[in-house]
Amino acid sequence: MIVVRFAPSPTGYMHIGNLRTALLNYLFALSAKKRTGEDFSFVLRMDDTDTERSKPEYEQAVYEDMRWLGISWDRLEHQSKRLDRYNQVLEDFKKRGLVYACYETAEELEYKRRRQRARGLPPVYDRAGLKLSEEEKKELEAQGRKPHYRFKLEHKETSWDDIVRGHCSYNGAHLSDPIIVREDGTFPYMLPSVIDDVDFGITHIIRGEDHVTNTAVQIQMFEALGAKVPVFGHPPLLTGREGKLSKRLGSLSSRELRDEGIEPMTIACLLARLGTSDPVVVCHQWDELGDHFDLTLFGRAQPHFDTEDLFKLNPRIVRSMPLAEVNARLKERGEPEISEAFWAAISPNIDKIADIAQWEKICFHDDVYQIDEADRSFCRQVVDFLPEGDFDETTFGLWTTLIKEKTGKKGKDLFHPIRMALTGREQGPELKMLLPVIGREKTIMRMQG
Ligand code: GLU
Repeated sequence: MIVVRFAPSPTGYMHIGNLRTALLNYLFALSAKKRTGEDFSFVLRMDDTDTERSKPEYEQAVYEDMRWLGISWDRLEHQSKRLDRYNQVLEDFKKRGLVYACYETAEELEYKRRRQRARGLPPVYDRAGLKLSEEEKKELEAQGRKPHYRFKLEHKETSWDDIVRGHCSYNGAHLSDPIIVREDGTFPYMLPSVIDDVDFGITHIIRGEDHVTNTAVQIQMFEALGAKVPVFGHPPLLTGREGKLSKRLGSLSSRELRDEGIEPMTIACLLARLGTSDPVVVCHQWDELGDHFDLTLFGRAQPHFDTEDLFKLNPRIVRSMPLAEVNARLKERGEPEISEAFWAAISPNIDKIADIAQWEKICFHDDVYQIDEADRSFCRQVVDFLPEGDFDETTFGLWTTLIKEKTGKKGKDLFHPIRMALTGREQGPELKMLLPVIGREKTIMRMQG
């Protein structure tokens, strides 16, 4: 069984880059299910070990965003609740000589890095901690220093076949031994993530390429835990007008996108293709989008993301939405459901669900529109030519043919006054579609003024 995970840190509102990671994992699992028939499981993991920056409101926002996107999870985990487990692994690693204590302060480490750079050397940790004798350590601790711990990387080639990047290989000698416990006893992301991935049986890890060097380090940790190494896929990060997208750059958060009327499927359809050379397909269901998805088609170049592209795609998604879905959306918004005929009439004219309300008002209110005198007298004259019986999509054609015959008016001179009387606007949905929606009674009333 395929097990994927999405592991946000609840330290801010999610932005498009986070949503992308969540949806690429989900689509990958859906597409694998389609290909192999194998079921999958989706783990949502809160990377909340940073107790100062993690906030309950950001965590709630993650749930809300995921629900909004329509991605459900089969298992929910919190790193903050698993500290005993991480400490247990740490003790085991200590016993096996896989970790070592270090005593440098952040300033001292920074000084070392600066000196290395000045000499043209890569800023790789010099393993000074590893060379300390027991007496030296005692002495440092007597001075009031507390140890932090680093994982001792093997100086060997670590490689994997990345779904997106192909064969990847890093030599441990060129990487700094990662700090896995800070001097205050807290765990940075690196080791807990691996322990969780092992314990939760994660089979595939899809995450941004900013984690590629972490992967080389983490593979050695999987090996140290005696676990099977998952399959990795690192799609390139999105670039935007602001350069690399990140929370700090103030990119649009998912809630802002939602407030702007962007549909979750607009985001999903666009991001399922951005970075591939395939065109966007308009889908309304995750399953359907999953059928077309292939992570191996993602290229190595950073795709350019422009929020404008979401605004351009959104009308295509909304206009082709099945009525049941439109009504579900309206219900969520506390707005009344609409009929098939009304939707068929107005859908070509709306860009987002919120636009429906305005046409609803236009079609169903009881007032008449103020129009200029010449138009009014024309409308009063032609209202009598309305065909008998219930209005349907043929009514407008029959009516206007008769008007042409009787008045000699055609084109704009004919349509414009009627549109103004019926809708109060210069432009809008096709009148042939609107007429049955507005109905005989209101049409007569609005024509007469
Ligand atoms: N919390 C990490 C992040 O948001 C997760 C990285 C990972 O997927 O391993 O970057």
